[in-house]
Amino acid sequence: MACLLVLAGCGAPAAGTPTAPPGTTTSAPPPSTSSSATSSAAPAPTSTPATRPAPRPQSTPPVSGVVVLDPGHNGGNAANPAAINRPVPAGRGQTKACNTTGTATNAGFPEHAFTWSVSVRVRDILVARGVTVVLTRPNDTGVGPCVDARAAAGNNADAAAVVSIHADGSTNTSAHGFHVAYSSPPLNAQQGEPSLRLARTMRDGLRSAGFPLSTYIGSEGLSPRSDLGGLNLSTRPAVLVECGNMRNATEAAAFSSAAGQQSYAKAIAAGILAYLA
Ligand code: ZN
Repeated sequence: MACLLVLAGCGAPAAGTPTAPPGTTTSAPPPSTSSSATSSAAPAPTSTPATRPAPRPQSTPPVSGVVVLDPGHNGGNAANPAAINRPVPAGRGQTKACNTTGTATNAGFPEHAFTWSVSVRVRDILVARGVTVVLTRPNDTGVGPCVDARAAAGNNADAAAVVSIHADGSTNTSAHGFHVAYSSPPLNAQQGEPSLRLARTMRDGLRSAGFPLSTYIGSEGLSPRSDLGGLNLSTRPAVLVECGNMRNATEAAAFSSAAGQQSYAKAIAAGILAYLA
């Protein structure tokens, strides 16, 4: 499946040499099931109940605040083109498709499954630290939500940070590495310094974990964007992480494994916690 309209960096080609993402050889727990995401099956993000903080290890201090995690796409999108192609407001006077199917590895592992697994893992790490987490979708089998509704989820939660999680689908299979997109030029104060600071802590979290900077999008792992509806419509500090290129064989292997997904989750959680600190 190809990225359709909304995604960041759906295929800007460039050359590069793949490097092995970290964590591809370690064991990790399996992804949580859909029923663990929330206690409700309601698809509307604004009605998705927050996951409350769990007891935390005594050695780690609590971190206050609500974090909204936005797993890109959804498992039911491809089968419901009319619903996801419906135009919705995307900021800056634009309209865009409600949502897209996302991309996939060459072996067929879909982006929506990757973003769901990573988001659930990030949630679990943050909840263990005392953070209240809201997911913009309750499972990996539904349709949407639309990009404007995903933004509204962060706004309505008065989120301290909003993080959308994606992976790219560049047809240049040597292109690889992550980048973090943020709204630019900013449309409100929260899209200014706070979002840029979140982008930097996220970039640093991923880089510190050993993930390579994108070889083909942005600069130093950062990508200012004016065309992403979820970021344009956010009134909270918000970024979109493109974890890498699903068409790159090395990164595809990491995206497809539980250990690789856990490594991305740990790095993303670290970036969020650094921002909240
Ligand atoms: Zn995506």
